[in-house]
Amino acid sequence: MIGTPPPPARGCGQAPVLKERGQREVFCGLTGIIWLHRKMQDAFFLVVGSRTCAHLLQSAAGVMIFAEPRFATAILEESDLAGMADAQDEIDREVARLLERRPDIRQLFLVGSCPSEVIKLDLAKAAERLTRAHAPHVRVLNYSGSGIETTFTEGEDACLAAMVPVLPRTEARELLVVGALPDVVEDQALALLADLGIDRVRTLPARRADDAPGIGPGTVYALAQPFLGETHAALARRGARHLPAPLPFGEEGTTAWLAAIAAEFGVDPARFEAVTAAPRARARKSVAAAARTLAGKRVFFFPDSQLEIPLARFLTRECGMEAVEVASPFIHRDILGPDLDLLPEGPVIAEGQDVDRQLDRARAARADLNVCGLGLANPLEAEGLTTKWAIELVFTPVHFYEQAGDLAELFARPIRRKARLRLEAAE
Ligand code: SF4
Repeated sequence: MIGTPPPPARGCGQAPVLKERGQREVFCGLTGIIWLHRKMQDAFFLVVGSRTCAHLLQSAAGVMIFAEPRFATAILEESDLAGMADAQDEIDREVARLLERRPDIRQLFLVGSCPSEVIKLDLAKAAERLTRAHAPHVRVLNYSGSGIETTFTEGEDACLAAMVPVLPRTEARELLVVGALPDVVEDQALALLADLGIDRVRTLPARRADDAPGIGPGTVYALAQPFLGETHAALARRGARHLPAPLPFGEEGTTAWLAAIAAEFGVDPARFEAVTAAPRARARKSVAAAARTLAGKRVFFFPDSQLEIPLARFLTRECGMEAVEVASPFIHRDILGPDLDLLPEGPVIAEGQDVDRQLDRARAARADLNVCGLGLANPLEAEGLTTKWAIELVFTPVHFYEQAGDLAELFARPIRRKARLRLEAAE
């Protein structure tokens, strides 16, 4: 393949993994509601939680307050927590009121939170009962967005995994692209696949309930996000088959992701080359601009978004960076194996977190860029280290060829800003 460096002689596929099980610093899974509600245009997310959960959602999605929102928090009061009121009755009442007022809602997600889990509120039972009450117009599902033992991207995984068992069955041979991508990015991917001659393509999640994909033994699926471990398992249980591939970040990742699909569907190599040549060249050119800042710099990943391994592969192989440590909350070999194989040997590969020990390693390494959660960024900046918020990587369109330059630029910007600040301080 033109312009793609050969795979490293030794990748990280067999590298030892430092497993850490200490204190973690992460955001909770409710965060996913922000991008999921934009994607699923007739879905509503009702968090059953506390005022803290409501504040988190409102501050994360502040721009939405002028529009008719498609998420809300049913706040558990003291009486619910003390078991003095029947929270199930209250959920029924709130849902009935909501659905009466909002006939546009076709899918309702009851989203569990730390408080609802602590009092063991059975939202699965509530979802079944409410589906019976409001079928066929509305389907009610439940999943957990709680911050107990989870990271923020697990919210999307839990939501999609909850949808899989109720998707209709199909015998069709279809490609399913899994992961909530911004519409414009998804459209680019679908256009590339159509140009390759692959036109039976469905997406999970679909934009509308009526477009929900079928699943069956003819379904092959490609993951567009690395954090979909539960969804991956749920699809396999339905008889669908996974296409392992690097994740579609950067020119190389996108080409390899498309190539895995093309091989499965028997696309002629000449056609593959003809379809991908121009966008690959554009991607390489736009990445090269940011790579001038990134080349030779060292990057340290704290475990946060679960995108760390594919991004480290992109930054090392396409932008010339050196990875010092690449830590991820979970490492699913089925999903991340191809990216690990491409990531050149050298960095510490870590799974889980012991935040104090990892901070010590980051301080000792003094990498040029530290990719971390919001809570660590300010303290690290105060110590003179340069940071990038991992959460931005999920809120910004970064997949596929046309976004490759923007993805590289997200990492280049903080390095340039720090260089400018140093210059100004020296003057
Ligand atoms: S789900 Fe838990 S971690 Fe998330 S906002 Fe609510 S209380 Fe906080």
